[in-house]
Amino acid sequence: MHTIQEPAREIPVVRQADVLVVGGGPAGFVAATAAARLGADVVLVERYGCLGGLATGGLVLYMDAIFDKQGHQWIGGLPWETLDRLRAIGGLAEDGPTRPHADSELLQVVANELCTEAGVTLRLHSWATSAIVADGRLQGVIVESKSGRQAILAPVCIDATGDGDLAALAGAGYEMGYMRIGLNLKVGGVDRDRFRAFQREQPERMRQLDGELRDLGGCPLHPNTTPHSDIGVFWINVLGLSGRDASARPGASLHESFEGQLSTIDVEDLTYAEVELRRRLVRSLDLYRHNVPGFENVRLLAFAPQLGVRDSRHIIGQHTLTKTEVVADTAFADTVGMAGVSFADVGHYRIPYGCLVPRDVRGLLVAGRCISVDHWIIQSVRLIPPAMMTGQAAGTAAALAARDGVSPAEVDIATLQRQLAQDGVILQ
Ligand SMILES: Cc1cc2nc3c(=O)[nH]c(=O)nc-3n(C[C@H](O)[C@H](O)[C@H](O)COP(=O)(O)OP(=O)(O)OC[C@H]3O[C@@H](n4cnc5c(N)ncnc54)[C@H](O)[C@@H]3O)c2cc1C
Repeated sequence: MHTIQEPAREIPVVRQADVLVVGGGPAGFVAATAAARLGADVVLVERYGCLGGLATGGLVLYMDAIFDKQGHQWIGGLPWETLDRLRAIGGLAEDGPTRPHADSELLQVVANELCTEAGVTLRLHSWATSAIVADGRLQGVIVESKSGRQAILAPVCIDATGDGDLAALAGAGYEMGYMRIGLNLKVGGVDRDRFRAFQREQPERMRQLDGELRDLGGCPLHPNTTPHSDIGVFWINVLGLSGRDASARPGASLHESFEGQLSTIDVEDLTYAEVELRRRLVRSLDLYRHNVPGFENVRLLAFAPQLGVRDSRHIIGQHTLTKTEVVADTAFADTVGMAGVSFADVGHYRIPYGCLVPRDVRGLLVAGRCISVDHWIIQSVRLIPPAMMTGQAAGTAAALAARDGVSPAEVDIATLQRQLAQDGVILQ
């Protein structure tokens, strides 16, 4: 490939903190809040203008995996507090006791409040582009923004970018995960009661429509409740694309990966998905308008401003959680959180701290969908509440590491677990 040489530059160090969190999605804003509540001086860097990641900008609004199939609760702590705060301001729609759907805009406000009340310094519109590493230890990041190129330093950093950008930049090993790329929608003008009756009474016709949509080159749509569904507003979960060729594996499942699949860390594939999905979704909505009772007057209100990336890098940690361990209900001496499973009959699983500690880079923790797990349990770990749960564990561990002047790998596990339990995290 043709290359050019970039001249060396002096970069201003604009901030030195105890803990630096990169990525302000569910994992990141919770990690920053948890660390700041323990007294750490925390900076949170986010590339976009709001917090919440896919749970706000991606219009992904169902808070899955808090409960198991039997309705037993496995996630408490800051994720639960976030839902309580949302409920208090009318930002939660509850489709039954175990199916909470958040309002995308009010979740941004709640995330801001959690961070600012705890004393987190926010740096929005800032894209982490380089890692500052010396002797295998991460020292901070270089961010690019309207203010130019700037350095932020901290003895402990947390990668909550979803894609594991910071860990990869710092030289951590990783495996790629592939799932379909979606682009969620918000629509208005839906007659809720007629649509719900159709869903209840004609499930077979709903499934048939998915097939017709695929044949027409559209995308299956999954309309879901919002706090404003009484006035016709729904969010639509979109399964999306696996590869470039429209005919490539049309029936492939969400989690199946194969050669030629779109890469979520390739800018050309991301651009293709943004353009292609908009085209297909307009067509899909039109088919709904003409075939689904309650959708006759549907209006497109918004495409998600953030593309629906379900899976990308899994950073290789000191421990990699596997299907075998989950199915065997393995207990770990360093468990830092649990979550419920809705896609298989295993009930729940535990996350060991080793999944958050990268094998190859010191001074760094990972949180959210890029932690060290296999391609089976990622189906649950990547969901919003588990991402928040790992964020709380990483933020708490980072504050303890910064306070004690140790690397994350050396944090005292008993102290960490005591603190998490005190802060409402369910550990057993
Ligand atoms: C279409 C779709 C449907 C889904 N459905 C559900 C569902 O029904 N229920 C459920 O619970 N979950 C669902 N999920 C999964 C869930 O939304 C995500 O996996 C979850 O949001 C992961 O949280 P995270 O904090 O790890 O990452 P993200 O939400 O991706 O947040 C990462 C944050 O980091 C920022 N960032 C990234 N790179 C950089 C950088 N270099 N510098 C600075 N900032 C950066 C991003 O802007 C973002 O704010 C769905 C996902 C998709 C895509």
